[in-house]
Amino acid sequence: MSALRVATRKSPLALIQAREVMDRLPGAIFETLPLDSPGDRDKERSLLAGAPEDFFTRDLDLALLEGRADAAVHSAKDLPYPLPEGLVLAALTDCLDSRDALASRDKRKLDELPAGAKVGVSSASRRKEIGALRPDLEFVSIRGTIGERLSKIDDGEIDALVVAACALKRLGLENRIAEPLPFQTHPLQGHLAVMVKRGRPELLALFAPIDARRKFGRVFLLGAGPGSGDLITLRAKKILGMCDAVVHDALLDQALLDGVTDELFDAGKRAGSHSMKQGEICALLYLLASEGKNVARLQGGDPSIFGRSAEEIRYLGERLVPVEIVPGVTAATAAAADTLVSLTQRGVSPGATFLTAHSASEGESIPLKASTLVYYMGANRLASLSERLLSEGWAQETPCLLVRNAGLPDESAEKRALEDLGASLLPSPLVVTVGKAVRDYRTPPRVLYTGIEVTHIHREVPAKLVHVPFISVRALPNRPPWGEVRADAVFIASRSAARFFFARYLECDADILAMGAETARAIASLGRAVNHVSPFPESEAAAEWLKSLSYASVLYPCSSLSDNALHRLPNVRALRLYETVPTVPTVQPKPDLGGYDGVFFSSPSTVRAFFAHYGELPPHLAAWAQGKHTANELAKNGVEDGRIIDVSTLP
Ligand code: SAH
Repeated sequence: MSALRVATRKSPLALIQAREVMDRLPGAIFETLPLDSPGDRDKERSLLAGAPEDFFTRDLDLALLEGRADAAVHSAKDLPYPLPEGLVLAALTDCLDSRDALASRDKRKLDELPAGAKVGVSSASRRKEIGALRPDLEFVSIRGTIGERLSKIDDGEIDALVVAACALKRLGLENRIAEPLPFQTHPLQGHLAVMVKRGRPELLALFAPIDARRKFGRVFLLGAGPGSGDLITLRAKKILGMCDAVVHDALLDQALLDGVTDELFDAGKRAGSHSMKQGEICALLYLLASEGKNVARLQGGDPSIFGRSAEEIRYLGERLVPVEIVPGVTAATAAAADTLVSLTQRGVSPGATFLTAHSASEGESIPLKASTLVYYMGANRLASLSERLLSEGWAQETPCLLVRNAGLPDESAEKRALEDLGASLLPSPLVVTVGKAVRDYRTPPRVLYTGIEVTHIHREVPAKLVHVPFISVRALPNRPPWGEVRADAVFIASRSAARFFFARYLECDADILAMGAETARAIASLGRAVNHVSPFPESEAAAEWLKSLSYASVLYPCSSLSDNALHRLPNVRALRLYETVPTVPTVQPKPDLGGYDGVFFSSPSTVRAFFAHYGELPPHLAAWAQGKHTANELAKNGVEDGRIIDVSTLP
């Protein structure tokens, strides 16, 4: 095996660092390739005014790209951001010491230095940190190897020096440390970095054992969508479920956090009031990841549209924490979808531009008049927005569509001419879409669907279903074992019954009967075979059907309150497995029913929960009722027959 060529700078410290990496992999054969970086050739330039990002890495990385070296060892804090194209970090070693230290004549501590003492510093941040503690000292820019810098103290040229503690330790000069300094240091100070060329898997494998990043967590910037829990992507939902900690914005639907870790951080709120600053959020994400936690950073809409993902990516990237983005449905497209608007259209709108209304008063020019503009964050800037566009020559009658709470149960929309935009009273959160593309907008009829879940496409409801459960189900405790309830057949009437029954009675060996095709599908999705399916998903019809099957004993798993024709069959025995409990909607406690055409009630308990909430069914709403019992419950609550559409009696 030929030796691996390890590029390093030529200073004693750099050579020791390269050796440190090589010594940790005793099985491999290495040879060092000492090179100069721009920083080694240009020793005059002060680093206090900044330097190119790759000042200390360029030639070494070039040697990798050109195949003259196999690996390069850098001080991790010298790495450029982003890392050079074509190279990858093969390992980041553990931190030796992240602190800065003071070296001084006679080992004087910082507060023992006399006013006006000359202190050598080699970076703007060190200059700032020490200046804050001792503004009375004189600071001079200092460059060169550690040995050269220390000799300036010994020669009397300077009185003290700020230097990385790890550098002195590596050189065996720990005894020169007068004291460690409480400074904020570069996040990677004390670590070494091993770079290799992309496409060298054998090198990744070789250095993997010394890679400290194996202990880091990852950060996922997840788009939550515009609000409703069902407009998040499957991928984001899955990752959310796998993370150890979640840092979330002020969410519009708390249900998004159901079933995720308890380690939740509300970045939209701090101490119950104002939101966390971006710097604090970045620091929190880093802290969690460096503790080894996988972190979900959940943001409304899409994280890269008017989010702060760029700052988070850079902050974490500079610290070498792996970051991934999962996109989300952004407010602009959610609003367009719900108003049947196409943001781009042949011959109408060749493109769409997303803008913040914050910039409406600034001097930037507004894009193409032929396009569609979508403004975010505009609720209290509508008048200035309108003025601005009119002054840019947009026609007074240009249609504008305002959509509030897009994708949520409380969504509302309003169309106005541009000249009239300022008169709208719709509050935030709001997107304003401007341009011809919205001229034919529509808000299709909407029906509020109550119940655990929407189980199929309801042809009988000529409207868009907006799901708000109002109820949830939970298992009743202490159910008897299978041996005690055993029967020839089990009649399963709903998805919930299927779920709770098979969760409890895995060993069931009876025939399985399903009420209706929908329930049969639910049973099949649990991996269980169905022997018979009742033609009508309705209890009375099902009771008649069950009689014709002549089973001697039938077990009927149902909810605590279930009462219907099946319970009155002599061969049927009820097994109460779960109960229904009313819940407060997680999106808005009380969605405004003004924008709805009706409500779909999927069971009597949803009727009870709905009335407990609203007190009445406002007169403009129709009521779709699934099953006779649901219709009866509506009648009991005073809903007139004429408004009830019994879904089970439809052809
Ligand atoms: N990243 C988000 C936007 C964050 S900025 C996204 O991709 O959607 C916040 C602005 O987004 C709000 O001021 C409002 O203009 C818009 N917004 C967010 N959610 C919205 C919703 N459900 N309905 C309408 N506008 C919304």
